[in-house]
Amino acid sequence: AAGTETREFSAEVGRLLDLVVHSLYSEREIFLRELVANAADATDRRRFEALTDGALSLPDGAGIRINPEKEARSLTISDDGTGMTRDELVANLGTIARSGTRAFGAQLSNAKPEDRPSLIGQFGVGFYAAFMVADKVDVVSRRAGSDEAWRWTSEGKGAYTLSPATRDKPGTDITLHIKEDADEFLDPWRLQSIIKKWSDHISWPVTIMREGKEEAANEGTALWLKPRSEITEEQLNDFYRHTTHNFDTPWDTLHWRAEGTIEFSALLFVPGSRPFEFAEQTRESRVKLHVRRMFITDEAEILPPWLRFVQGVVDTEDLPLNVSREMLQATPVLVRIRKAVTGKVMSELKTRAKDSESYASFWENFGPVLKEGMWDDPVHRNEVAALCRFRSSAVEGLTSFDDYISRMKPEQEAIYYLTGDSAASLETSPQIEGFKARGIEVLLLSDAVDSFWPDRLSSYEGKTLRNVAQGQSDLEKFGASAESDAEKAEMEALIPALKASLGEAVSDVRATNRLVDSAMVLTAPEGGPDLQLQKLMQRSNQ
Ligand code: ADP
Ligand code: MG
Repeated sequence: AAGTETREFSAEVGRLLDLVVHSLYSEREIFLRELVANAADATDRRRFEALTDGALSLPDGAGIRINPEKEARSLTISDDGTGMTRDELVANLGTIARSGTRAFGAQLSNAKPEDRPSLIGQFGVGFYAAFMVADKVDVVSRRAGSDEAWRWTSEGKGAYTLSPATRDKPGTDITLHIKEDADEFLDPWRLQSIIKKWSDHISWPVTIMREGKEEAANEGTALWLKPRSEITEEQLNDFYRHTTHNFDTPWDTLHWRAEGTIEFSALLFVPGSRPFEFAEQTRESRVKLHVRRMFITDEAEILPPWLRFVQGVVDTEDLPLNVSREMLQATPVLVRIRKAVTGKVMSELKTRAKDSESYASFWENFGPVLKEGMWDDPVHRNEVAALCRFRSSAVEGLTSFDDYISRMKPEQEAIYYLTGDSAASLETSPQIEGFKARGIEVLLLSDAVDSFWPDRLSSYEGKTLRNVAQGQSDLEKFGASAESDAEKAEMEALIPALKASLGEAVSDVRATNRLVDSAMVLTAPEGGPDLQLQKLMQRSNQ
């Protein structure tokens, strides 16, 4: 037909499709979770767009409709969301726009076949999961605000076709032509149980067509508004998995209602493992803001960047439902919510830090992120410092600043640290030989962020932080070095010779008492950037 065009999938999509279709059977049902989530996202987005453009308003009874047709062997998921233009169909369904999906694809190809099903359960693959149960998928979509509709069709084998279509109202219909061996997904009861399991909390009504009648399929209760006693462990875990895309259980769940000058309910999680897409995310907190159960935005930056591993929902009655982006920027309500939520998370972490074993597992996942607070948050810098844990030359496992201070020598005034690429190489570094020999503890900092925050924090509880690789070491006061006078004299003679032969390459050559076994060590000038920071800056300049 006129306007019909066939295009190839991007190579990445092709590979992902191949893996999804050929290696994943046991968790095929999650295709429905993925499609319903997309429909709900699109409806949320349209609601938000309508705030600034009334013409995009949602129709009454907006929701998500699931229609299985046994005879036709088709399953259609319809929504009243934003819909997609022709270009959006190409960009969203023909390429992998989302970095997380791309990374997931890579992880999937590397995984052993028997591990793949659990991987897909964990992360989802979005829209392409449809091809696990369908040998052909039709998408008919009309962008809200446009009269044009387009059909996207594919058998999931390398190419897709675009052609003009018609649709009464804006929104999207996704029709799956169900595979021979996937009959179960034409059964309304089976579909109902999948929705209950994975999508119960979706806040838009989800209905399933059964014997000619639309039946409600989800409870749609905002879990966070229920008292804790009415929430089952299973509901909580499902919600956690949906929110974080994790498959484990949360390390911590914070569920509370704030009452007083500002009123809100919050349900927040600290994941039990690093979410798969974590490294790819932007630095901004993605905690969702709801107003009276309605999703408003996940860009309200409810928590500071260094608490971005906390995920979940904050729901308030103190903002109008039609709050716009501009208004959000200006409102003091949001400022108060941020303060209260940040305070709550910090005091929770303080409590949880008392159990050092459990805290260590949290620290392995998110410690480097929390540390950023010492760099970029003057208000919380000291509080964050108290929550930090470090490897050290003196003890096994992790230690805190407070513990370090309790072990300091009576004559010791500073907290010593060394930064580098790995804890293992730091432990054997010549830089700390002299300190170790004198029983002085050195914190071994090997995260990238460790090159930045010590200068900003500069001291903890009145004790200056000192980089042992920087400038003159002040080891004399902790006892004499083992050098004889003859050795000292030899050294005095050697230094001018070394200076002459090294020339411009170094700014100074000095005798040092920081070494015990090694002959020589490179140090950075006092006040200059330390060696690790120089390396990092070099790398980022490339
Ligand atoms: P993700 O949802 O994580 O972005 P998906 O593969 O599930 O990844 O979907 C890809 C994109 O396709 C979505 O980001 C969205 O832009 C678009 N999309 C998918 N389904 C719909 C829908 N029902 N309505 C509007 N847009 C959709
Ligand atoms: Mg999706």
